[in-house]
Amino acid sequence: MKSWDANGKKYFKYHLDQKSLNFYSFISANYQVERKKWHGIDLEVYYYKEHATNVPNMMKSMQKALEYYTTNFGPYYHKQCRIVEFPRYASFAQAFPGTMPYSEGIGFITDLRDVTKDDIDMVFYVVAHEMGHQYWAHQVCGAGMQGSEMMSEGFAQYSSLMVMEKEYGKDKMKKFLEYEMNDYLRGRSSEFEGENPIMKTENQQYIHYNKASVVMYYFKEMIGEQNVNKAMKNLINEFAYKDPPYATSLDAVNEFRKVTPDSLGYLIPDLFEHITLFSNRALKVTSKKVGAEYEVTIKTTSEKFRSNALGKETPTPIADYIDIGVFGKSDKADVLGKPLVYKRLKITKKDNTFVFKTKNEPAKAGIDPYNYLIDRIPDDNVKGVE
Ligand SMILES: [Zn+2]
Repeated sequence: MKSWDANGKKYFKYHLDQKSLNFYSFISANYQVERKKWHGIDLEVYYYKEHATNVPNMMKSMQKALEYYTTNFGPYYHKQCRIVEFPRYASFAQAFPGTMPYSEGIGFITDLRDVTKDDIDMVFYVVAHEMGHQYWAHQVCGAGMQGSEMMSEGFAQYSSLMVMEKEYGKDKMKKFLEYEMNDYLRGRSSEFEGENPIMKTENQQYIHYNKASVVMYYFKEMIGEQNVNKAMKNLINEFAYKDPPYATSLDAVNEFRKVTPDSLGYLIPDLFEHITLFSNRALKVTSKKVGAEYEVTIKTTSEKFRSNALGKETPTPIADYIDIGVFGKSDKADVLGKPLVYKRLKITKKDNTFVFKTKNEPAKAGIDPYNYLIDRIPDDNVKGVE
């Protein structure tokens, strides 16, 4: 609001536009400032003059994130939105109300020149995640109890995934979700206390970041992006900037329950209240020419488990809608080709055989081919045609 000199010192007076968490940072340096106005909000990046390379990308991510979040979750309540560089004493970014300190080590000096078409743009992703916290942690402040990180980190992850998907497309998300799935599986294998279901996560990064990404993305694929966002917006409408009692993961899951159709009601306990794992596998894929078409036969197995806190898995009956797909030739070994058949079918037993007809020559086929489900071995879901 005001700055002045007195007693040989510089003074500044600040006033928040919106009642916020009593949580702020002091960062001081000789900065260059990149500025842009977006719908009355000052988007700003404060950076060291030799670190300008990724600044436009950060600006772009801030704007794309605001576009998605204001459309889907509700208003952004500050007049500024600032990224402020700090030296590599630490390599993290953090969201304070309207201000996001960001280490040179994870964004400003990141060399993205070698990033191939399939790699994740980490600079864009981290900015979108921190922007997510302007809603998840700052607008909806979770109660200090188990599960609150599902709403802060987990929902910031989901939000950034949606911004990335709009910018880079679904294929790229598959790659990102693969990392997230692997980190979750690795994380739970080295848990030394006890794994919690996501709605009871407690200082468990492999759950509230990695599992949350996979679970929320899958949930979105199943009930639709608009429904997930409607539930999250309802949570914001109910809790944003309100006095206690603060939101708990029970409130969030109740909102999800309201937007989930009855036929998919099983997703709520599976994804949020329990630790659920699958073992989906393509055993054999064959194809023969029948007239002008190809007849593709896919043999699969599907098993479903619930795990307890110590990792003991108990088989549980399967009655899940799972995707079955047949894909055409791809020019890259690790990328699926164009889907020739893609169906979401209710799977109710372990061994299954599917027969489909395709016009184009099939190359690969399998079950849950995009790895939406948490799978003990994710990479045996698809097989080449024999
Ligand atoms: Zn975060």
